[in-house]
Amino acid sequence: MAVRRVTVLGATGSIGRSTAALLEAASPGEFEVEALVAGRDAAGLAAQARKLGAKLAVVADEAALPALREALAGSGIEAAAGEAAVVEAASRPVDWTMAAIVGAAGLASTLAALARGGTLALANKESLVCAGPIVLDAAKASGALLLPVDSEHNAIFQALVGAAPESIEQIILTASGGPFRNATLAEMRAATPEQAVKHPVWSMGAKISVDSASMFNKGLELIEAARLFPVEPRQLGVLVHPQSAVHGLVQYKDGSLLAQLGTPDMRTPIAHALAWPHRMQVDVPRLDLAALSRLEFSAPDPVRFPALRLCREALEAGHGAPCVLNAANEVGVSLFLARRLGFLDIATVVEETLAALGGERVPDLAAVLALDTAARARAHEIAALRAAA
Ligand code: NAD
Ligand code: MG
Repeated sequence: MAVRRVTVLGATGSIGRSTAALLEAASPGEFEVEALVAGRDAAGLAAQARKLGAKLAVVADEAALPALREALAGSGIEAAAGEAAVVEAASRPVDWTMAAIVGAAGLASTLAALARGGTLALANKESLVCAGPIVLDAAKASGALLLPVDSEHNAIFQALVGAAPESIEQIILTASGGPFRNATLAEMRAATPEQAVKHPVWSMGAKISVDSASMFNKGLELIEAARLFPVEPRQLGVLVHPQSAVHGLVQYKDGSLLAQLGTPDMRTPIAHALAWPHRMQVDVPRLDLAALSRLEFSAPDPVRFPALRLCREALEAGHGAPCVLNAANEVGVSLFLARRLGFLDIATVVEETLAALGGERVPDLAAVLALDTAARARAHEIAALRAAA
């Protein structure tokens, strides 16, 4: 097979490191790494770039460039920094790109990679939430193939292979329930960042871990699923499933319910996107159903987890509402992690920001970016009022 050229955006993160591990384990000559991109971890990025023989390493934060240059000295690997350099790296011709930057910060590079064509493995769900139609149009215009890496969407993609849209009755996303699945409202009100990021099943970056605890992650995934799959919002469901063995299900109109199962290890969905339409050998632990013996499913609690309702409302409202929701949630999560906002206040900040700005229209990318900025400013104001109260 011809060598495949790849780029990893968000290379030093949880998804980026799992992607690098798969590339490293592949046979020599199978993949060639063009570019690796990170936020500001120059040392981690340089070590990865040396190990994978990348041509280019880019940090978004310009202040990290001297450290990156120093760490790459003598390697022949090109170093660059800044937002424009991130986009330039994403635009370089490759066969496959992993989009694993966290947050709407990943939007510009996701769009650049899609405009270039090839395959985009999408972990960065926030870009699809805040600018869904623009992201999908970019893929259509270039003929790029968009493959979902989020475990639920990757599972559903697998369970949907060959399906005619009219044969689908319902798509179900599973949720582990996170660290507060059995917590009381009082416990959640007092939750610390340490408790919130301690996910019972998955090991992930801080932002998505907090989103899993609040179930904003599942809500963002509902919006992501509505963008990716040919169903109406009312055909999307969520089930809490603490074992995280079943990652997603498709209910067909003849009564068949198809699911994808596996151990909760992101290397499996990443490998699926990396090898598609083939399969590659991956040495993750196999799911031992006999040892597991029991799979539980239940409906999510709307009182302790208002995030699902807010995300459904934003999805139904359309236009700028998902962008506002995502921006306000990013602000809420970062303030919570900085101990400047209570855990349950994240949803309140999102709800109030949506009420203020959720009706805006977003005809183009400039409008999305302007609304994202405005929503962040408004969310900060709302959060400051709550903190002062
Ligand atoms: P993470 O925080 O571990 O890693 C984020 C990566 O993005 C790092 O490499 C960081 O340096 C980089 N980054 C941050 N800000 C940047 C910026 N402004 N410009 C360029 N790079 C920047 O996050 P993660 O857990 O790997 O998640 C990444 C994305 O994948 C998120 O959108 C998340 O929702 C999604 N995702 C993650 C998982 C998981 O298991 N971790 C599962 C499904 C989806
Ligand atoms: Mg997921």
